[in-house]
Amino acid sequence: MVKSQIDTIELRRRVEVKIDQCLKQAERYFNMRLTKPIFNFKQRGRSAGTAYLQTNEMRFNAFMLNQDPEKFIDEVVPHEVAHLVVYQVYGSKPKPHGPEWVAIMEHLFNVDAERTHTFEVPKPKRLYLYQCGCQTHEFTAHRHGRVKRGTQYLCKLCKEPLVFLHAN
Ligand SMILES: [Zn+2]
Ligand SMILES: [Zn+2]
Repeated sequence: MVKSQIDTIELRRRVEVKIDQCLKQAERYFNMRLTKPIFNFKQRGRSAGTAYLQTNEMRFNAFMLNQDPEKFIDEVVPHEVAHLVVYQVYGSKPKPHGPEWVAIMEHLFNVDAERTHTFEVPKPKRLYLYQCGCQTHEFTAHRHGRVKRGTQYLCKLCKEPLVFLHAN
């Protein structure tokens, strides 16, 4: 087994342990049984995580989890669990980051609710800029490769050939 696979399994386990801890705390505090949420690592883009109230599901950003597992598990996991606990305890009335949610975060999970987790986002794909007579065009690496192999593109607007400027 390669190292990254072991890491992923280990991180998944740590996330689950944290979810269980948070849920137990909430069950004790509210003196009620809570349904354990399902979770996966399908979250993409700029969000660290999302809680889906109706399906009792959490999606976490694996890219950000790998970046700083400690911070992610201490802040992002309780943040999303708190959303699901609010929904199970109070229903859909409370605001997403309203007083009920803040109370669970700060008094139960001991996480500063004001703190917003900042993680780096995946680098955007490299773009190749081309110029015609009227505007700048953005090419993907794939298209840029085709130009290098001899394909010529014309601007649909001004009909002039596109000339490579630089990559960004
Ligand atoms: Zn939130
Ligand atoms: Zn043009």
